[in-house]
Amino acid sequence: MKKVMVVGRGSSKSWSQLKEIKGELMRKVMIDKIGPAAMYEQLAEECCELAQAALKAARMMRADNPPRKSPKEVYADLNEEVADVWICLRELDLKVDTDIVHYKEERFLNNWHNMMCGEETYVPFEEV
Ligand SMILES: [Mg+2]
Repeated sequence: MKKVMVVGRGSSKSWSQLKEIKGELMRKVMIDKIGPAAMYEQLAEECCELAQAALKAARMMRADNPPRKSPKEVYADLNEEVADVWICLRELDLKVDTDIVHYKEERFLNNWHNMMCGEETYVPFEEV
């Protein structure tokens, strides 16, 4: 792997490390310029576009009112919107809290298990 000497830092960096540093710097400059509120608005917009793409995928699966797109286009749109949301999350430095994810997954599966077994027990969400 090719290394590049970074002047004044005393250590060499690979091209991919330099690219990552440049990306982080550009993110900070961009957020400083537009403000974090604008980035949250962008995230909300991309979430709406993801919801729209998911609804189109559901319409395609049900086939009662299919979108005027091929399945390949529908899934491409879905993947594109997932990527857009992911980029916004990264720009805002929002990370997934895996403790909450695991807790919610377990709660979800337990609720489904209880429902399938005819139990009426519903476990509501509690703060982790
Ligand atoms: Mg988008």
